[in-house]
Amino acid sequence: MKILDRRSPAFLPLARRTTLRLGGFPLAEIRLEYPADYDLLPPLLEREGFDVRILGGGSNLLADDGNLPFAVIRPLNGMGQSPEHVGPDLRACGEERVLIRAGAGLRMPALLAWCAARGLSGLEGLVGVPGRLGGAIAMNAGAYGCSLAPLLRELTVFSPAGGLLRIGKDGWTASYRHFALAGENDWFIAVEAVLSLAVKNPSEVRAHMAENLARKTSTQPVAAHTAGCVFRNPPKCSAGKLLDDAGMKGVGRGGMRFSDMHANFLVNEDGGSCAAALDLIAEAREKVARTSGVNLEMEIKVWS
Ligand SMILES: Cc1cc2nc3c(=O)[nH]c(=O)nc-3n(C[C@H](O)[C@H](O)[C@H](O)COP(=O)(O)OP(=O)(O)OC[C@H]3O[C@@H](n4cnc5c(N)ncnc54)[C@H](O)[C@@H]3O)c2cc1C
Repeated sequence: MKILDRRSPAFLPLARRTTLRLGGFPLAEIRLEYPADYDLLPPLLEREGFDVRILGGGSNLLADDGNLPFAVIRPLNGMGQSPEHVGPDLRACGEERVLIRAGAGLRMPALLAWCAARGLSGLEGLVGVPGRLGGAIAMNAGAYGCSLAPLLRELTVFSPAGGLLRIGKDGWTASYRHFALAGENDWFIAVEAVLSLAVKNPSEVRAHMAENLARKTSTQPVAAHTAGCVFRNPPKCSAGKLLDDAGMKGVGRGGMRFSDMHANFLVNEDGGSCAAALDLIAEAREKVARTSGVNLEMEIKVWS
């Protein structure tokens, strides 16, 4: 475990850790690089009394500017490491599937590249989604007909009440962009996951990823500083279309703008701030409520 505080030379503001390039200075950054580091967490938190937030790849976050009253925990175990082959998924019926184990810190693009090279299928819809495995689990990330939770067979989690635990499918609940531990409301860390993936031809998996990536890059501002979709899609409807109908596409202020390419992406053009982003978000919600009668809910997580 490494603890960096505001005086440490390697300590960076959240603006350097988030894809939206926004966010000020947490009290400290706690890096968990090995499974054994999690055992050191309870005494540390008790001693320091920190309020905490869990930071993955920072690709779904809008963090406040200035000094922030919480510490950030970064689960980095598994970062830069290949997943481990656990064996065949004996519960699979009708198709050959394998189980793989990977740590929360593994970057999703690296996981997808590893799967593509081995013809392991299931995650193709997540091509072009930044972030780490832990964040993808916590958000139940998904696109193009795929989402993470249905592939999950086992999860090692840390929670303040339970410590480090290995749980199976009855230990969590998941739905559209939502994941929670069953019966717990407190924060938790997804530490390590076992995923079930179908065995296919590598060229088939690569072709499917290429198709999804082409679709994504032609409809979303993937190279801009964004945090993905700002709002959740309401049932049977697209938040982007509602924002477009409300005239929010291209609307900007204070360095922030709803993308001309996809109205549900808020872009930090240059020198934006969390305050400007929250202002635009409030305006968008009000206009959509007025034009369509829909109350948009946030998909990105706001740390303010
Ligand atoms: C260009 C772009 C395209 C995107 N496209 C998509 C898309 O198609 N589909 C989609 O679903 N999302 C998309 N996103 C949003 C984002 O990439 C996903 O939600 C991603 O899974 C978040 O992972 P992260 O590691 O960056 O999490 P973070 O942004 O760091 O955190 C997100 C939330 O997860 C929690 N969290 C992070 N790690 C852990 C952990 N180990 N344990 C417990 N909680 C944790 C955080 O506390 C926070 O509440 C996109 C984002 C961008 C910038």
